[in-house]
Amino acid sequence: MCKYYAHAFVCQHTTSTFARYCTAANFTQKPCEQRQIWHTIGLDEACDECQMWFPDQYGSVLPRSSTKKSKAVAAAAAGAPPPPAAAPAMAGGAKTSGRARKRCSS
Ligand SMILES: [Zn+2]
Ligand SMILES: [Zn+2]
Repeated sequence: MCKYYAHAFVCQHTTSTFARYCTAANFTQKPCEQRQIWHTIGLDEACDECQMWFPDQYGSVLPRSSTKKSKAVAAAAAGAPPPPAAAPAMAGGAKTSGRARKRCSS
């Protein structure tokens, strides 16, 4: 059994990094199929994927400028559904109010 370090991220993902060969694998210099977790290293950050996909939750390590940018992107993504529906409604509202004004004056 070859030994691996396990990295435990705050997002509860774990990655394993090769640490050292067992005696059998030492001859071939190839890690064998059996993995043994030698040490589990707790990390106070999220894995790369979670930092990339969930910057609002796990992106605290990123520089402020990019956090701001990602927040804007997230806001845009969250606000994406309303605009298509809201734009026609606004146009319609403007039209009706204009029509109402015309009727009142005439
Ligand atoms: Zn081994
Ligand atoms: Zn993760």
